[in-house]
Amino acid sequence: MANETNNFPELISHCKEYGYIFQSSEIYDGLAAVYDYGQLGAQLKKNLRDEWWKSMTQMHENIVGIDAAIFMHPTVWKASGHVDNFSDPMIDNRDSNKRYRVDHLIEGHAETLDKEAGEALLAEMDKLIAADDLPGLKNLIESNKIKCAISKTCNWTDIRQFNLMFSTQIGSVAEESDTIYLRPETAQGIFVNFLNVQKTGRMKIPFGIAQTGKAFRNEIVARQFIFRMREFEQMEMQFFVRPGTQMEWYNFWKDERKKWHQSIGIPGEKLRFHDHVKLAHYADAALDIEFEFPFGWKELEGIHSRTDFDLTQHAKFSKKKIQYFDNDLNPEGKPYGNYTPFVVETSVGLDRLFLTVMSLAYAEEKWTKEDGSEDSRVVLRIPAKIAPTKLAILPLIKKDGLPEIAKELMNDCKGSFMCFYEEKDAIGKRYRRMDAIGTPFCVTIDHQTKEDNTVTIRYRDDMRQERIALTEVKNLVSKLIG
Ligand code: ATP
Repeated sequence: MANETNNFPELISHCKEYGYIFQSSEIYDGLAAVYDYGQLGAQLKKNLRDEWWKSMTQMHENIVGIDAAIFMHPTVWKASGHVDNFSDPMIDNRDSNKRYRVDHLIEGHAETLDKEAGEALLAEMDKLIAADDLPGLKNLIESNKIKCAISKTCNWTDIRQFNLMFSTQIGSVAEESDTIYLRPETAQGIFVNFLNVQKTGRMKIPFGIAQTGKAFRNEIVARQFIFRMREFEQMEMQFFVRPGTQMEWYNFWKDERKKWHQSIGIPGEKLRFHDHVKLAHYADAALDIEFEFPFGWKELEGIHSRTDFDLTQHAKFSKKKIQYFDNDLNPEGKPYGNYTPFVVETSVGLDRLFLTVMSLAYAEEKWTKEDGSEDSRVVLRIPAKIAPTKLAILPLIKKDGLPEIAKELMNDCKGSFMCFYEEKDAIGKRYRRMDAIGTPFCVTIDHQTKEDNTVTIRYRDDMRQERIALTEVKNLVSKLIG
């Protein structure tokens, strides 16, 4: 198709206009970095979550899924290190009082420089972050004369660490209440249930526990739409392995996860691996799977080799034994015996995956028709497998028995996949609307249907139309969304 563009501001307004994503509490002017998913967005999100869940649990005999609570005992976050370490270095501008995440401030400045200078600045920043050198980072900001976007001055405070967890009170009376946290990651719900699942599920190492659910972080620089939110959803899987085999599994999951992203239609050349320079306190290896978002290459998923850190910490803080007895034989012919398993984690943000799919799908197209006139459309090329609505059923006109045939088809298909029925407006206008919401197939019932039981099926991606038997519609669409 000629003249395709991929424009981020337009994508954001398209998401709102067509019921994909709304600003939270919009009638009260919204809440920063919090979003609601509308009627189509909620369905697309569910389809993505279902794909992930199926690929993890149904397609791997040694992975099971759980659904742990958001609230957890406050000691969990002490043990995990989040109370002491889950913070980002922040700096305030004294003139505007605006607070920045230091890495974002420097990255933003690097983007304004030429390639070589930008890369050198980022390399210097990575080195200082890895060394936890906060005064060094402040020097870097000042020596590069990095200014606040609002005040345009370099009048900076010292850099401080800022904890990202939200806290709240549990308990009905103030005196009895206790401070608890909204979980900043879903992973800890898996670790504290390790023994429950291993024992009740009779799981044998290596095995995984998967979970999807909300996580909360008080992100300071919340921007780029649903890329960085304060309330978001994660899809995480912790894979428990024998100590010493973690790098093998780390490499296995690195490849496996990239392949999965490709299986839902993300082209391989839009994905890349980025190894971490500074490892988190719990990791012995870590990388990001990055996607080329409209605003640059950014993290979509993290793969972390978390060692035995989490299970060991929970054993220490809970004073419970959290180990596994491995009766497989080692090379000396003796059972491996008791040990604390090592963990390889895969962690993808569902909202970031949603943004990935939408930014690939959104296209504004213009072309010249056979008669020389110009035509255009906005289309969401969401892969049929994950599109929220699979089939639109459209009677050509609202009379002559056509709606009755259409409704019968709707009743026949709706148990198998999501259908949409519409009888208002000219057919061309209805096709354009289906393009705009990403419906991959439309079926039109016209007068010929009454004569020979055929319908027109129209394909969203190439706008091709063909005549097929009415009785074939369900099978064909089921096959195409397979
Ligand atoms: P970033 O460096 O972008 O802040 P992170 O390294 O802190 O991300 P992880 O803790 O590894 O992220 O979380 C795993 C995944 O959860 C990320 O790859 C991302 O997809 C998602 N995620 C993390 N924070 C957010 C957020 N604020 N909004 C939306 N998704 C998020």
